[in-house]
Amino acid sequence: MSSENRLLEIRQEVINCQRCPLAKGRLNAVPGEGPAQVDILFIGEAPGLHEDRQAKPFVGRSGQFLTSLIEAAGLKREEVFITNVVKCRPPNNRDPLPEELSACQLYLDEQIALLQPKVIVTLGRISMAKFVEGGRIGAIHGRTHNVNGRKVVTMYHPAAALHQPALRQTLLDDFSKLKKFFNVEETINLTPKNSSEIKTSPSNSEEDKLAEQLSLF
Ligand code: URA
Ligand code: SF4
Repeated sequence: MSSENRLLEIRQEVINCQRCPLAKGRLNAVPGEGPAQVDILFIGEAPGLHEDRQAKPFVGRSGQFLTSLIEAAGLKREEVFITNVVKCRPPNNRDPLPEELSACQLYLDEQIALLQPKVIVTLGRISMAKFVEGGRIGAIHGRTHNVNGRKVVTMYHPAAALHQPALRQTLLDDFSKLKKFFNVEETINLTPKNSSEIKTSPSNSEEDKLAEQLSLF
């Protein structure tokens, strides 16, 4: 079966899924969207109100900002794949519970296996935690990690900028760093261990510390 067809099957499986209690509260499951052939995969946390209503990822306020951020990276929203670690909306947008994350992970894992993106971008700390153990978003936002041979860039969640306007520019700057992956230049492989950093940028600004204290995204 082609990966495109399998991605469509996964979509259907997610729509019918009853693997965790979030199935009960959803209007719509949100499998994710994008072409079967992509260089870059964005992974958020979970659908919110608007996503649950429209069955699409990142269509509310933070979604609009994500679209601008993708453009700031020199990309178009239609040419990237966007999904979440959890495919159904948690009540009152609370953080997904560990058992919900583990019930849902097979879908994202297979999406990644089929898409084989050059770069994965995590949006927020829940999505980051899937790839980078013990990372603090305030310290590692905008950085690239080598996770089992794949590049993973850990970004603040776009909604962080809605709560904390100072983070808007930080996010724009971090996203514009993604350009380097899609230009001629390849990054040098430093053959790190499982989840070590391959690129770092110092970041200790006041906004970052504040965001961290508030444990925002
Ligand atoms: N926040 C997320 O993490 N994902 C969405 O799809 C929308 C908002
Ligand atoms: Fe299934 Fe994931 Fe939805 Fe839970 S959140 S019901 S595991 S699709």
